[in-house]
Amino acid sequence: MTDATDLTTHETDEEDVPSVAETLEGLARMYLRAGASPLPVNPATFGWQSTAGVLAALSARMLHFLHGVDPKYGAAFAGFYHGPTGDGPHPLGVGLWVERNIAQPAGADINAWVADAKQEAETAFAYTSRPTSIADLGILLGDDALALLINGLGASWEEWEEHGSTRRVCFLPGCTREVDLVKAWSGEDREQSEGWKSAPAVGFGCPDHVSRLWAGEHQHQPAWTKENIDSTAQLTCTCGWASGKVAFRGHGITLYQVHALEVLGAQG
Ligand SMILES: [Zn+2]
Ligand SMILES: [Zn+2]
Repeated sequence: MTDATDLTTHETDEEDVPSVAETLEGLARMYLRAGASPLPVNPATFGWQSTAGVLAALSARMLHFLHGVDPKYGAAFAGFYHGPTGDGPHPLGVGLWVERNIAQPAGADINAWVADAKQEAETAFAYTSRPTSIADLGILLGDDALALLINGLGASWEEWEEHGSTRRVCFLPGCTREVDLVKAWSGEDREQSEGWKSAPAVGFGCPDHVSRLWAGEHQHQPAWTKENIDSTAQLTCTCGWASGKVAFRGHGITLYQVHALEVLGAQG
């Protein structure tokens, strides 16, 4: 069992450690910040921000309860959260604690858990690096984050909808088709998102333009490449086309849009 003294293994001036009330205020504000709009457009960032909000709420509830039961433990947990240098618990200490108190009792090897985490991170990275069907973005976010995304944000979610930021139009100039991400992910209208893909490099593609640019024999998938020599990057296409170095993301996207229009024009 964890002793209250185990939680403050670092040498800290008592006055440097925030009180339980201050720690609760920080957690409550973090929860509110995680759900405040505008929310991040990148689905991975959005998913992690949502997860941070839930964990802040859980931690605040538990710390509030614990402090009511035993103020000594409450203060010890506030100190643990503050960490040795004020930026959170020490990763090495937490890792050892997880191994001893959670992984070993579960009969698990923490190295296998670390390998799983790395694998999941690589899968998520792969999904954010190429056109992905809108439905598959659920894999990136995970079911929990998705459910949270749909149900958990309450008023701020409605606010999001009101401003139209859950609707995405096809990246191709002149194409007016649009998809509503909330309706697609919530299951309210999953069919309307069928065939849509998200390409992190340029935006969302409608079913018609996906089938003619990013699917089957039509391989014109865009990706940003960056050389570390300077701050410029270029947008490249799987067919070999490249934008040339551009200083602004929008400039590269415009050049790719022209490339896509030329490809579609050649298809007739
Ligand atoms: Zn389109
Ligand atoms: Zn191409």
